[in-house]
Amino acid sequence: MAIERTFSIIKPDAVAKNVIGEIYSRFEKNDLKIVAAKMLHLTKEQAEGFYAEHSERGFFNDLVAFMISGPVIMQVLEGENAVLKHREIMGATNPKEAAAGTIRADFASSIDENAVHGSDAVETAQREIAYFFSDNEICARTR
Ligand code: UDP
Repeated sequence: MAIERTFSIIKPDAVAKNVIGEIYSRFEKNDLKIVAAKMLHLTKEQAEGFYAEHSERGFFNDLVAFMISGPVIMQVLEGENAVLKHREIMGATNPKEAAAGTIRADFASSIDENAVHGSDAVETAQREIAYFFSDNEICARTR
């Protein structure tokens, strides 16, 4: 199976709940390695650009307001089949529909405030990683 990279955000609600470590531990238990990470408080422009594909959706303004409501932690995860594996660990967009034991089932309170973001395809991951990380901020984990 291919080694892939995917892009992950721990959103402001989960950072506020102080569950960064709990979420990191789920990545590690599923053999996803953190190869880049940063904490930042997104600007409105950054959030709008990141979610540009949703700009026509009714929830867009609320989504942007939520994403800039507090700091986020974003990371690049690497591992076998990382994109799909990460989506499985996250659970469905709506936490009410998320499988038991997933991050969203355990830590998200609503479809609007759903704890985490994860790329939905390899190509999306490449674009999302490049949106926030330069190549020299991503580390090889070869030891
Ligand atoms: N979202 C929302 N209301 C909705 C649908 C989506 O606030 O009715 C937000 C939610 O934060 C979601 C994000 O928009 O995570 C992106 O939506 P998408 O369908 O891409 O879900 P995801 O890939 O995050 O599971």
